[in-house]
Amino acid sequence: MDTAVGIDLGTTYSAVAWVNREGDPEIIPNAHGEPLTASVVTLDAGGRPVVGAEAKADQAGGRAEVAHLFKRFMGNPAFRLALGDREWSPADLSALVLARLKAQAEAALGVPVTHAVVTVPEYFTHPERAATLEAGRRAGLNVPRLMSEPTAAALAYGLRPGPDTRCLLVYDLGGGTFDISLVEVGPDEITVIAAEGDHELGGRDWDDRLTGEMLSGLPPEDAELLAAHPGVLLVEAERLKQTLSARRAAEARLTLGGRTIKAVVTRQAFEAACADLLEQTGQLTVKLLEETGLTWADIHGVLPVGGSTRMPMVARWIEHMSGRPPMGGIHPDHAVALGAAAQAAILLEAEAEQTRLRLPGSDLGEARPILRLGVPRQIKNVVAHSLGMIAEDAAGERYVNSVLLPRNQRVPSNATRPYQFRLKGDGGDTMEVFLTQGETGDVRDCVYLGRYVVTGFPAAEGPRDAVIDVSYAYDDSALVQVTAVERVTGAPLVVNVEELPADVPERFLQPPRRGGSRAAMTVYLAFDLSGSMAGSPLAEAQKAARAFVSQLDLTTVAVGLIGFSDRVDVSLPATNNAADIERAIRRFTVGSTGYGNATHPFDDIHRLLADTTHRRFSVVLADGVWSEQSHATGRARRCHKAGIEIIAVGFGSADQAFLRGIASSTEQAMFTQLGSLSQVFGTIAREITEGGGH
Ligand code: AMP
Repeated sequence: MDTAVGIDLGTTYSAVAWVNREGDPEIIPNAHGEPLTASVVTLDAGGRPVVGAEAKADQAGGRAEVAHLFKRFMGNPAFRLALGDREWSPADLSALVLARLKAQAEAALGVPVTHAVVTVPEYFTHPERAATLEAGRRAGLNVPRLMSEPTAAALAYGLRPGPDTRCLLVYDLGGGTFDISLVEVGPDEITVIAAEGDHELGGRDWDDRLTGEMLSGLPPEDAELLAAHPGVLLVEAERLKQTLSARRAAEARLTLGGRTIKAVVTRQAFEAACADLLEQTGQLTVKLLEETGLTWADIHGVLPVGGSTRMPMVARWIEHMSGRPPMGGIHPDHAVALGAAAQAAILLEAEAEQTRLRLPGSDLGEARPILRLGVPRQIKNVVAHSLGMIAEDAAGERYVNSVLLPRNQRVPSNATRPYQFRLKGDGGDTMEVFLTQGETGDVRDCVYLGRYVVTGFPAAEGPRDAVIDVSYAYDDSALVQVTAVERVTGAPLVVNVEELPADVPERFLQPPRRGGSRAAMTVYLAFDLSGSMAGSPLAEAQKAARAFVSQLDLTTVAVGLIGFSDRVDVSLPATNNAADIERAIRRFTVGSTGYGNATHPFDDIHRLLADTTHRRFSVVLADGVWSEQSHATGRARRCHKAGIEIIAVGFGSADQAFLRGIASSTEQAMFTQLGSLSQVFGTIAREITEGGGH
């Protein structure tokens, strides 16, 4: 029978756990009887890999060829480390650590270990996750799922009895990363609601500060000598740091080049040197709370995980932030591996259940491990990044990162976006999509996930404009998959991931080449936000706005939002960023511009769009009779003359003759029922998209 384990593949230490015969997750100690194994790799004299304490001892002994902290470079193709006579990628080195943990578990349990749920920082992006999966494969492990570390910790916590539903913050400060996640733990379900983090903030930064403290207290010759041995200095700093978690002062005594160097650091001095690091974790925590609209009153407690939360300053900081001491009861170094083991057991249980359904009567008496009953088995997670692609801005003057799936999206999940594309029709067409993870429009600010090349377009009579529906999906491990279909033919296209060209992102700093057939377009949605829109009309209008945007090719179409009633508010200047558009739609509120119908949006539409040369639209939504309809009709005509097309959509007590007056043509005036608003907006979006580019 297969045995599945959970592995916490840490930056500095790793751990492996399984679900024991009593149904409880349990750490499997290594050959030295220790629960944690250092994520440090070296080669012995025979060129065989050495992992863990022995390798770490070599590092402390000043041996140059020791690999550590490689998790920080996971998925980075530029990072290679020379050990022995070959170069190693972070995935190669991680595979050695995983293989060691696998062997350790097999030795302790006496059975082959075939499956492992491996944990990754919440903040890991697609290439980092893909490299982790690859490491598992090379270690001979079947990795059915990657799990985020804070989720694993929350699951370990959720396995303990407690009040029915608890909302907690998992404060995960490890060796190399900091993650803060908002998690809801219920009796059956654990839901990660949102996450924030810094990929380059961790215990290692505390070590760096401590080296500063060690050196500053030494006579110059000693400081110079010690600084010339950075490996030794760092290992010693980490040791002092850990001592300072238990004592008020710590001393290092080192013999280098025949000299004995003695450095003393007090906890007080160390804490003072690290205050800003704690502050950084605080800023990310506040950002997360703000983003989710919660306050500290909504938070049941803060769960510390990761080795670095052992520092007393962290516990004090958590209490300072949240007003209560950190939650206790789970071991900060073991929680992640224990949660991963529980997840592995849950997956095996589900698989056994599937087999039972498929093969009734089959003997599953041996199906192990089985997790204790009465603990949450549903685990829902989010992705901490926004998924986007490189696009031309509305004016076609520069490249921007256009967000498609905003951050904190549930996994698994998917979204489809249309792209307008001019096909030569000779059967050799290719379309390129540069997929990114990043929060801003700046092309220098994102991680490039890959160049997806779409081919397989059928040959046709000649050139034609096509709409390609590209779907983005996150699987259970938050890895990205891209598929594409041509809308008219419905034929699935071929999507290949290709290596990124060396000039990315620099090439996107140049202005896009002119003369493309993909006509840029700007659309303003102008929504009546008067008092009568309160309640379901607003909710339906927001839904319609979303349906509208989902049908647009945001690589060529920029969308802006205007709310109006007694005043006009340009709540979003036109942008290609789906996340900004979604946020602005969500923020539409009745009353924000007054409750009446005293004004109209056409002067602002004219101001925003009159000087633009590409195609311009405004879809105006009206639900009642405006105070100055004839004046508004006149101002709308000025927009028509300037080449801005106005599409008028009315419902409720909107005046149909007036709608025809403000629309650019009678076909562009529509009266509908509230329940059909989304459908109408979706159709308008499709029509203006398909009318483009000719
Ligand atoms: P993790 O990535 O969760 O394994 O955390 C490893 C980090 O925790 C490393 O930077 C360790 O130096 C740090 N760490 C472990 N134990 C302690 C301790 N007692 N005091 C301070 N830091 C510690």
